[in-house]
Amino acid sequence: MLNNTNFRIGLGTDLHRLAPNLPLWIGGFRITESLLGCVAHSDGDALVHALIDALLGSVAMGDIGTHFPPSDDRWKNANSLDLLAQTLGIIREAHPTFTIVNIDAVVHLERPKLGVYRASIQETLSTTLGLSVECVSIKAKTGEGLPPIGTLEAISTQVVVLVSI
Ligand SMILES: [Zn+2]
Repeated sequence: MLNNTNFRIGLGTDLHRLAPNLPLWIGGFRITESLLGCVAHSDGDALVHALIDALLGSVAMGDIGTHFPPSDDRWKNANSLDLLAQTLGIIREAHPTFTIVNIDAVVHLERPKLGVYRASIQETLSTTLGLSVECVSIKAKTGEGLPPIGTLEAISTQVVVLVSI
C-alpha cells in the first residue's frame, strides 16, 4: 500500500585514479578493451562503490568505508559485487522489508565509450540486486578533454537510488 510505504532516496559518488596495466571493472563487468584500470585497494569498481554508498545512504547507515574499511586486509582486491551483496544483507538485517525501487547512475569516463557495454552492466547489476533491468539505468559521459576525466586520469560515478523500507 502506497500510504504505508516509507520511501527513501540515497546518493553515492566515487572517483578512482586510472593507470596502465590494471583491470577496469564497471558495474561488475570487466571492460577488457580499456588500456587503463583503477588504482584501488579493492577491484576499483567505481560504479558499484557509488551504488553501495547510495544504498547505505538511503537508510543512513554510513558508507562503504564504514562497513568495508580499506585498512582491513579482508577487503584487499575484494570483488565489489560481493560487497554489494553483503551490503544488501547488512541493510536487510536492520530493515527486513528494504526494497529497491530504481537506480539511476552516471559514469564519467573518457574512453572507451560505454554504450556497447551498457546492457551487460545493467544485466549484471540487476541480477545481483534481483531487480528487473528497466529499474537499472546506466548513463555514460565523457570529459570533453578536460581534467581529470577527459585527460584519462580518472573515472568518476554518481548513483541515486529510490528505496522503500
Ligand atoms: Zn571506489
